[in-house]
Amino acid sequence: MTDQPVHIRPEIAVLPPYRQGRQAAPDALKLSSNENPFPPLAGVVEAVQAQTAFNRYPDATALAVRAVLADRFGTTVDEVHVAPGSVAILHELAKATSGPGDEVVYAWRSFEAYPGVVTVAGATSVQVPNRPDGGHDLDAMADAVTERTRMVLVCTPNNPTGPIVTGAEFAAFMARVPSSVLVVLDEAYAEFVTDVDAVRGPALLERYPNLVVLRTFSKAYGLAGLRVGYALGPAYVLDAVRACAIPLSVTAQGQAAALASLEREGELLERVAELAERRDRIRAGLLDQGWAVPEAQGNFVWLPTGEHTAFAAEAFEHAGLIVRAFAPEGIRISIGEPEAVAKLLETAAAVVERLTTTAPERPVR
Ligand SMILES: *Cc1c(COP(=O)(O)O)cnc(C)c1O
Repeated sequence: MTDQPVHIRPEIAVLPPYRQGRQAAPDALKLSSNENPFPPLAGVVEAVQAQTAFNRYPDATALAVRAVLADRFGTTVDEVHVAPGSVAILHELAKATSGPGDEVVYAWRSFEAYPGVVTVAGATSVQVPNRPDGGHDLDAMADAVTERTRMVLVCTPNNPTGPIVTGAEFAAFMARVPSSVLVVLDEAYAEFVTDVDAVRGPALLERYPNLVVLRTFSKAYGLAGLRVGYALGPAYVLDAVRACAIPLSVTAQGQAAALASLEREGELLERVAELAERRDRIRAGLLDQGWAVPEAQGNFVWLPTGEHTAFAAEAFEHAGLIVRAFAPEGIRISIGEPEAVAKLLETAAAVVERLTTTAPERPVR
């Protein structure tokens, strides 16, 4: 008899528990979780502070937030679903569509939550390697769709590598995927996208009865700690998602913050534009140094450090920058505070210098 007598599903027992981006030492800058470096806007803090009826359950369906979003995107409220983060919606979508024997197709490397979402639902992951430029290989992803496929996850811009899917690529992809397969367009970083050729999910909802678009207040809106994300899509899909949701899990504080943020969107989007500009400046600096940084359209950049990932991550950490290492592929660095920029570029220059002198065959250039 072991001292772990409870039966755990074997595929869950081997699943790593969630690992957060490293918490920064007090004097280090945390660039490991794609968080927004700006503090919440004043009006948003006040809206949250006004929600003090902690003895009451929140509005179960976040109707006020859904109404504003429906108005903004020209949908009905039933075509909007609000949840405690879009990660929660990914789990709900997987449960609603996919179970044992079913397959979920997604690009790899992509968002680290995807494998767990699929496994927890009891379904099987089919991972399709990214193109050499870090973008989704949508042709190969369409090829990977079989009669067992229930869902395809498309992440644009792709976390952690950075490139977008273009509107043309997405249209060609949708033409090849049967409408019985749900396609989820994960646009967690949509607000940071400046490439005019990028696909924009909300405009396509009318065209595809098998499309769901995911957005979040965590990144551009800077509400990661309050847990609010949303889905746009056909009511029949979102009704199934609502049936799989854990009820009452979006707090009144989260709903108030989301509403106040939508009211102050102009101010928030100015911050987003500033971050996008900082991102472009950082990427240009890294390209100048010889780094093969993929197109960066989110609030992060990707360094293809390959087998030298651990060495490079340590160098950044030593410089007081906490980054996210995905060994043996690369390092994702979030666009953070202005004071992080010089430090980041300095450290990256030192690292690339080391790599090109000690290992000239490195694919960093
Ligand atoms: C951050 C992120 C999310 C969602 O985060 P939530 O905080 O759960 O809303 C979803 N998809 C991708 C690709 C992300 O990077």
